[in-house]
Amino acid sequence: MFRRLRLKLTVLYAGLFFLTLSLIGFSAWAIIANNAQRMVRDELQTTGIVFDRLWQLRAEHLQEGASISASDYGFRQAIASNDEPTIASALANLRRRLSADLVFLVTPQGAIINAGETTTIAASPRLRQALEEELDADNAPSGVLMFAEAPHQAVIAPVLAPDLLGWVVVGERLDRREMHGLEALSAIPLQACALVRGAQGWSALEPAIEPRDQEKVSGFVERALHSRETRPDMLHLSTGDAIALVKPFRSLDGVESVLLLRYPIAAALAPYQPLFNSLIAIGFVAIVLLSFGSWLLASGITKPISRLELAARRLQAGAYEPVEVRTRDEIAHLAEGFNAMAAAIQEREQKITRLALHDSETDLPNRLAIERRLQPSMNAGARLHVAAIGVDRFAHVRGAIGYAHAEALMRQLGQRIVALAHDAPMARISSDILIVAFTAEDEPASRRRLRKLQLALEQTLSLDGQLIDVAVSIGVAQAKPKDDAPNQLIQRASIALDQARAACTKIAFFDEASYGDPTRNLSLMGEMRRALANGDMTLAHQPKLNLRSNVIEGVESLVRWKHPRRGMIGPDVFIPMAEDTGHIRALTDWVLARAIAEQKLLAQSGRAITFSVNISGRLLSDREFAQSAMRLVEAAAAPICFEITETAVIDNPDIALENIDLFARGDVQISIDDYGSGLSSLAYLKQLPAHELKIDKVFIQSLANSQRDALLVRSTIDLAHGLGMKVTAEGVETPATLALLNTMGCDIAQGYLVGRPVPIDQLLTILADAARRTA
Ligand code: C2E
Ligand code: CA
Ligand code: CA
Repeated sequence: MFRRLRLKLTVLYAGLFFLTLSLIGFSAWAIIANNAQRMVRDELQTTGIVFDRLWQLRAEHLQEGASISASDYGFRQAIASNDEPTIASALANLRRRLSADLVFLVTPQGAIINAGETTTIAASPRLRQALEEELDADNAPSGVLMFAEAPHQAVIAPVLAPDLLGWVVVGERLDRREMHGLEALSAIPLQACALVRGAQGWSALEPAIEPRDQEKVSGFVERALHSRETRPDMLHLSTGDAIALVKPFRSLDGVESVLLLRYPIAAALAPYQPLFNSLIAIGFVAIVLLSFGSWLLASGITKPISRLELAARRLQAGAYEPVEVRTRDEIAHLAEGFNAMAAAIQEREQKITRLALHDSETDLPNRLAIERRLQPSMNAGARLHVAAIGVDRFAHVRGAIGYAHAEALMRQLGQRIVALAHDAPMARISSDILIVAFTAEDEPASRRRLRKLQLALEQTLSLDGQLIDVAVSIGVAQAKPKDDAPNQLIQRASIALDQARAACTKIAFFDEASYGDPTRNLSLMGEMRRALANGDMTLAHQPKLNLRSNVIEGVESLVRWKHPRRGMIGPDVFIPMAEDTGHIRALTDWVLARAIAEQKLLAQSGRAITFSVNISGRLLSDREFAQSAMRLVEAAAAPICFEITETAVIDNPDIALENIDLFARGDVQISIDDYGSGLSSLAYLKQLPAHELKIDKVFIQSLANSQRDALLVRSTIDLAHGLGMKVTAEGVETPATLALLNTMGCDIAQGYLVGRPVPIDQLLTILADAARRTA
């Protein structure tokens, strides 16, 4: 109901107080009213007793007067002689003496002779009956008599001489005056009135009762008469409640009448009214004061709570504002607790944020941190360049100096970047790659800047007093004007780094054309597997010419893919992709099986020559492949040669050497492909059980023009011969090259000059032609 604690407390306190006060006030009122009522009842009772006594005294007084007259001789004489004037005069005398309202004589015949009047009036039958009845009574009868429509207190004295001569009736009218006299006798201002029972119930003959209360009063009197005791009781009137007492009169003529004494409660309580008024006033002032006090008290309690609530909401929104502690009560303790909690949360949040935005090993900012920093500049459309700086051969370096030092090395490189460009956002995004972002006008400007950075980073480092040289490669990506996200930019920089390494350059800008679309590549691999099954993939065989015998003694089988939509796809595109996505095994299995099958076709036409198949470096460390390849080779019609690249061997030396040994023992010839293009290592060259060394076409193609290359090729040929290997030169395109190779003692030539890679049927014709020429 109350949404605010302050209001709730105030209303609660004020309400409780009001309740208590009301209870006290009500009790006081009840006690006082009760007392007042009791007092009024007592007083009514007393007045009733006094009235009885008065009634008695008056009756005796009237009786005395009446009796004296009745026993007066002259009066009796006058009655006996029916001397009405004398009778009337005697009665008038009596009235004067008693100062009574009513004096008359009733003759036995029922005539009434009134005092002072000579006329005789006939007595009513009821009066006569009453007189007869009274005559039978022992003592002098007194009671109420209706006369001239008014109740009278009357006494009757019979006139006997000794026979009954009549009755002297003396009465006092019970009128307002009489009632006032009675009221004056009471200690309290009560109201008295005489009521007579008529056809409409009890009513006063004088206007003493409001007409609308007539019925209530009548009912009250009726009830009072029925109850045996005469006690004051509550009478509810339109003018207010009153306590009333009914005293029945004795009736002389059968007409019932009563005396009603009443006293209004309001009058009884009137003296206490000022007391109540002041009590109410005091109560009201007290309630106002208490409400105000409660309000202040509640404010004192709720204000700090409100402050706490506000602080909690601020905390929820991320604002850490401590609550001011002013008191030393429980709420102050709560506030202190809250402050401690907020501080702890803030500290933890800072820690978490730091952890989330920093590399735990080097404490350099991480990918998320730089992405956040780049976002605003990218939104603003800045000419942002992001460089991915990779430490070359990091795995080897780490293997050599240990993890801890490798991390320290990355940290130092990070610090160098910061030292060179304070404000440039930088981060470590993987173990060996640092990212730095800067703005540059164009590519040359960016390149100059990165060149400087590269030189700075490649300065000799000191780790624990040990000097270390590192080499770095850098890939750069430029923010595109639209729809570019920081993570995409970083990703492009990382790809550019790979491209730099692949191209063996120090700094490379992201080359979209050569990168392609990785998602498309993946679907291409699915298509490649289908192509192996449905005949889109074929083999082309390139002749290898023995320079001594001038005979084609073998071919290199190269894979060709005629894509239904994209046309011819070169092996340079899909072979590296197949290697990276794990599809190279299936491809190689297919090529080997296919080469052996086509070799069989040749053998059937009497031309059993060596077929060379390229084996990807990735497969050399696959034992299962080696075994299945050997099972295939067993079914070959003529010798099979595996061309393997030297770099692949160096990457996985142990298993690769094991497998190569397996091939060599199984009569597979081993050829070292692309010699000279990778990292040449004489040690491994010596370890490999190779039969052939293929000099890379880069050297052969520049053979006629470059003295240096000629020298290299010649010494390589000598070296290979020294190790017991034959030498094949690939990429032979001109007769001059061929002539040079001949003089250098090269064994075999392969290239467009000798023959392009062709399908098996064309190869058959070529071989047939060549055989015819030599024949
Ligand atoms: P590679 O093993 O060095 O194959 C020789 C490449 O040189 C072939 O390119 C061939 O067409 C090309 N070539 C031959 N003579 C000449 C010449 O006189 N001048 C020039 N400029 N090029 C010449 P191709 O067929 O495009 O193959 C490219 C590379 O794809 C191959 O290089 C080889 O590494 C790989 N490859 C081809 N087929 C297979 C295969 O079945 N399995 C595996 N693992 N790799 C394959
Ligand atoms: Ca090859
Ligand atoms: Ca080659």
